[in-house]
Amino acid sequence: MSVLIFIDHADGHIKKASFEALTYGADVAKQLGVSAEGLLLGTVNDDLTSLGKYGITKIHQVNNEALNQLDAQVYAKVVEEAVASTGAKVVVFSHNQTGKAIAPRVAAGLKAGIVAGAVALPDTSNGFIVKKSVFSGKAFANVSITSDIKVISLNANSYKTVAGEGTAEINQLNIAVPASKIKITGVNKVSGEVPLTEAEIVVSGGRGLKGPENWGIVEDLAHVLHAATACSRPVADSHWRPHHEHVGQTGVQIAPNLYIALGISGAIQHLAGVNRSKTIVVINKDPEAPFFKAADYGIVGDAFEVVPKITEAVKKLKGV
Ligand SMILES: Cc1cc2nc3c(=O)[nH]c(=O)nc-3n(C[C@H](O)[C@H](O)[C@H](O)COP(=O)(O)OP(=O)(O)OC[C@H]3O[C@@H](n4cnc5c(N)ncnc54)[C@H](O)[C@@H]3O)c2cc1C
Repeated sequence: MSVLIFIDHADGHIKKASFEALTYGADVAKQLGVSAEGLLLGTVNDDLTSLGKYGITKIHQVNNEALNQLDAQVYAKVVEEAVASTGAKVVVFSHNQTGKAIAPRVAAGLKAGIVAGAVALPDTSNGFIVKKSVFSGKAFANVSITSDIKVISLNANSYKTVAGEGTAEINQLNIAVPASKIKITGVNKVSGEVPLTEAEIVVSGGRGLKGPENWGIVEDLAHVLHAATACSRPVADSHWRPHHEHVGQTGVQIAPNLYIALGISGAIQHLAGVNRSKTIVVINKDPEAPFFKAADYGIVGDAFEVVPKITEAVKKLKGV
C-alpha cells in the first residue's frame, strides 16, 4: 500500500505545483504509516532522484515520449494502470489544469471517491475526511471518502513545500500507452516572459487603467519583477488585453506568491481566480474598493502616479 503522487511537467521541467503535492503526499503517507511514491508520465530533463528531498522514496516512471504531450484520456488510463500495479490506495494530484483534467477521470475509472481542491491533510482519526474549499474560497467543506482507493487534488498554496534530505529510487513501469483519440495539429504558445499559471509574481490591470495604451506601466513593473501580466475580465472583453490574461471565475485561476492588482475593483468573480495568492497588493484610488478587504497590503492612490514610482524603486533595489 502506498500514496502515489502525480508529478506534473511541461517543456522538460517539473512544475512547481508538484513540489507542494509531493510534500503533501509524503505527509499523508506518514500519517497512514505507508510509503510515499511519485508517478511521472513521459520524460523530463530534471534530476528525478533529487525529488526524494520532498519525502518520497521511489518514483515510478512510464518512460514513453508519447506522454510528453498531455492527453487527459490517455493519461488517465495510464495512471489507472500505475495505481493497479503499484497497489496505491491514495492518489494525489495538484489541482491545476492537468490535475483537474485527469484526477476526475482516474477517480471514475477506479470507482474511487475524489476530493477536488483539498486544502489540508486528511483527518484519519475516524475514517478519511478531507477539507476542501468551496464557493470560490468563501467556505470550506469536510468530505469523507469511503472508497478503498482515494483520489485527492490539492489546491495551490494550501500546503507548505518542505525540502529536506534524501534521494528517490527510479522504477520504470512497463505500461502500454493506449492510442490517442485526438491529434494535436498545432500549439500556439502564449508569448510573454513568464507563463501566467506558473508565475511566482503577477501584475494585473483593470478598467481603472482606462485603455490599452496605458498598459506600459503594467508591463514595466512586470518586467522588473520578472512577473507575468494579467487583467480583469472587462479588460479582455474590451480587447485591451488578450483573453488568456483574464483571471477570475470565468478566466484563468492562479495562485502566485504575489499578486499586484492595479485599478481593479475586486469583484467576487475576479477574487475567485486570485484569492489563493499568498500575498495580495492592491493599488486603487477609491479607498472603498472591495479589493482592499482581500488585500494584505493596499495603496490608496492613482495607479498612474504610484506604479512608475514602484517600478523605479524596484529597479534601484535591483541595480538595473
Ligand atoms: C458571471 C460573471 C462572471 C464574471 N467573471 C469574471 C472574471 O472571471 N474575472 C473578472 O475580473 N471579472 C469577472 N466578472 C466581472 C466582475 O463582476 C467585474 O465587473 C469586473 O471584475 C470589474 O473589473 P474591473 O475591476 O477591472 O473594473 P471596475 O469595476 O470598473 O473597477 C475599476 C477600478 O479601478 C479603480 N480606478 C479607477 N481609476 C484608477 C486609477 N487611476 N488608479 C487606481 N485605481 C483606479 C476604480 O476605483 C475601480 O475600483 C464576471 C461577472 C459575471 C456576472
